[in-house]
Parts: sequence; structure tokens; C-alpha cells
Amino acid sequence: ALPVIYAITPTYSRAVQKAELTRLSNTFRQVQRFHWIVVEDSNIRTELVSRFLAHSGLPHTHLHVLTPRRYKRSGMPRATEQRNAALGWLRMHRTPRDSGVVFFADDDNTYSLELFDEMRSTRQVSVWPVGLVGGRRYERPLVEKGRVVGWYTGWRADRPFAIDMAGFAVNLQVVLANPKALFKRRGSQPGMQESDFLKQITKVEDLEPKAHNCTRVLVWHTRTEKVNLGNEPKHRQDTVVIEV
Ligand code: UDP
Ligand code: MN
Repeated sequence: ALPVIYAITPTYSRAVQKAELTRLSNTFRQVQRFHWIVVEDSNIRTELVSRFLAHSGLPHTHLHVLTPRRYKRSGMPRATEQRNAALGWLRMHRTPRDSGVVFFADDDNTYSLELFDEMRSTRQVSVWPVGLVGGRRYERPLVEKGRVVGWYTGWRADRPFAIDMAGFAVNLQVVLANPKALFKRRGSQPGMQESDFLKQITKVEDLEPKAHNCTRVLVWHTRTEKVNLGNEPKHRQDTVVIEV
């Protein structure tokens, strides 16, 4: 059987949350052998997300962990605790006999279906280009003779792995074999989350390039515009309560 793709999605409550999750689920429903690990940045599993997942038709696991308030500042890495909770769940609930590939799927990005075909064959850690990131049209691993030899990036080229969260996947067995590999809060600078994590489990020369030797963009680091709710009434005016 095909390895299962485990997509780890941190998500938090905001006006566009359900719209983002809807877009994501419409993509993910088209992927075979898929398991969605949704981790809410919240101290509870919210009704909105619980109901949404129940109706999504997707195999899923619904976790939650609240980001401590001191980490909710701009310039600080986001969703560290949520991604780590998902890694912890995999380590508790999957065994060396399960075949799978783990991928970090933020709720606002855009994923082509081809991306999943590419990542499915990840043996250890695979990488590919990401569109619309780092102040450029794309960033990508530079590949020579089938090996990653550097990074095409316009931002912090000194990063050991100059790659966005959406630009790599990890075989489930690598996650299980490195039980201490986690995303870091302590000492983590903006943009270093990926490098701090990847250096715990792999080396640049061992990365597996996907997407035609990293020459095709199959995922985009899209960001959703903040919604204007300036005309929301202060007190409820409508006769019904509607989930948006
Ligand atoms: N996120 C979260 N809590 C937050 C902010 C973000 O769980 O306080 C999630 C968000 O839903 C997304 C991921 O973390 O899945 C990355 O956040 P965002 O897209 O805002 O980061 P950016 O793309 O701007 O780096
Ligand atoms: Mn984002």
C-alpha cells in the first residue's frame, strides 16, 4: 500500500479560519491515503473546527495546544507548540511498521495535487521549491547531479536549510527514529525554525530533491489578506446566529 501522507496543520481562530480550512480540505480530499493532523492554537478543541472536521470526510486527528502569550509577538516563530504536539502524537500512535510521510501544511498556503505525488516517495527527507516566499517569486534548493548543493534565496542565505516549512517532507520512520527532534522556541530566530528542526534529523547532502530536481513550483506560500470587519455591528442585529 502507498505510504500515508500525514499533513500537520496548525490553525487558530480568526475571521478567515473556516474559509482557509475549507480550501485546504477541498485539496486534501483529492489525495489518496491521507491523514490530516489539525492542531488548534487554543486551550480547547473548538466547536467550529470539530464540526468542520466531522463533515470534512477526511481521516483526521484533532489536537489542541495554546501558544503561551509571551510567544504571541510579531517576529516570533508561529505554531511551534502545535507542530510539536503533532510530532508527539505520531510518536505515540504510530510504530516502525507504519509507512508514512510527514509534511507541514500551514492553513493559508496553496497546494497542488502533484506535490503529494512527489512527496509520497520520501525515503528520509525530501525538498522542493516554494513559490511566493522570502521576498522572491520562489525559493528553491539548488541541485547538482541529483544532490542539493545550496539554496536560491533572497533572504538570510546563511540559513543552513534556506527553506520554508512548506518546502520539505520527512519519512515517518525518521520522525520515530529521532524522538527528540522538535521545533524550538529557545534561541530560535525568525526563519530558523526549519533549519533548527532539519539539522536534528538530516544533512544537506542527504536531502532528496523532488519536483524535477527542484525546478517546479508545486506549493505557494500564499497569505490571506486581513478581512475588514469595520462594519460589524457592536451588538447582534441579525435574528439568527451564523457560523462563518
Ligand atoms: N498559526 C497559529 N497560531 C498563531 C499564528 C499562526 O496556529 O498565533 C498557524 C497558522 O494558522 C498557520 C501557521 O501557524 O497554519 C503559520 O502561520 P502564518 O500563516 O500566520 O505564518 P506566515 O505564513 O505568515 O509565516
Ligand atoms: Mn502563512
